Amino acid sequence: MAMNTSAERETDDGTVADTRCRNCDGFVTPQFARVFGNNRNEVYGCFECMTATEIKKGSANHPEAAERARQDLRR
Ligand SMILES: [Zn+2]
Repeated sequence: MAMNTSAERETDDGTVADTRCRNCDGFVTPQFARVFGNNRNEVYGCFECMTATEIKKGSANHPEAAERARQDLRR
């Protein structure tokens, strides 16, 4: 049996807390996912791969908006 050193944790009610950035796989807090993610608490950007300004504008809750925000950054 392999040692489970994964950061993936199960919550008390048995559902896996999926609080990772869909873009860079960076860890985000459940609160972050709830506030800035879509209605399934999925985020497509985080403080690792997107600016706080874009996140607060709501760009993290949509893959295309997140992609556009990152392209703006690269210019
Ligand atoms: Zn990210």
